[in-house]
Amino acid sequence: MRLANLDGRPVIVIDGVSDGGRDDLVTFAELGRRGEFTFDDVFDRWDDALAAAESATVTETVAISALGPPSPRPRQVFAIGLNYAAHAAESGQPVPEHPTTFTKFPSCITGPFVDVVLPSGFVDYEIELVAVIGRRAHHAPAATAWAHVAGLTVGQDLSERAVQMRPPVPQFSLGKSFPGFGPTGPWLVTPDEFDDPDDLALACRLNGVVVQSSRTSDLIFSISEIIERVSAITPMLPGDLVFTGTPSGVGIGRTPPRYLVAGEVLESTIEGIGTIVTTLR
Ligand code: ZN
Repeated sequence: MRLANLDGRPVIVIDGVSDGGRDDLVTFAELGRRGEFTFDDVFDRWDDALAAAESATVTETVAISALGPPSPRPRQVFAIGLNYAAHAAESGQPVPEHPTTFTKFPSCITGPFVDVVLPSGFVDYEIELVAVIGRRAHHAPAATAWAHVAGLTVGQDLSERAVQMRPPVPQFSLGKSFPGFGPTGPWLVTPDEFDDPDDLALACRLNGVVVQSSRTSDLIFSISEIIERVSAITPMLPGDLVFTGTPSGVGIGRTPPRYLVAGEVLESTIEGIGTIVTTLR
């Protein structure tokens, strides 16, 4: 099942692809009776939502660029740094023993086709697989952690490196939370839709040129392991987002560093989910 955000309400995607074209048409059905579910409760009532999706009927076709973020008001946004070995190396860091965890403050979360205003000349791109929590997790073991995941979506962990690295200690959460710095979408795909939800190709293109390309099977801490480690400390709540880390190829890892410029376009694609398009202004 694919869950999308149409005009601020949760809907089921019946038909449509996502390859980056903002005019691509997508056909939706209401989730239950209109108004039965909202983004204030759909993840808290995830089992009811899955049941309602079984009887969804087609109602509407719109352009994919009309969609909003598939979890627009997460109570918590977890993000993991240095979670691909090649990215840890380009960052000059050893492979971590524990997930390097920070937050993107939830006000930065936005949708799949957005313009983002650059606050400086030090903004970088990071494609990431994002998990959406569907059932509360506290002290959840890795072996059953997938049961807590509503689905997967595509994310960009946009990062202002000057603030992020400002001494005396790094400010990951502030540097990654400017307005619009959390594009997500185009929809949430439930785990049962994937042959292997732990092995998905992901790629980021900048102005049409591939700058990051990897597979989520290269994650140092898998989604299951992240949920076990994080939920051992902090309950993870329905609707929460988990940005799982970015592969190598980011701008700050290049010589000289390669930061984003107004007018440039990022296309972020994950196998089995689709593409989000972020335009820098
Ligand atoms: Zn990141």
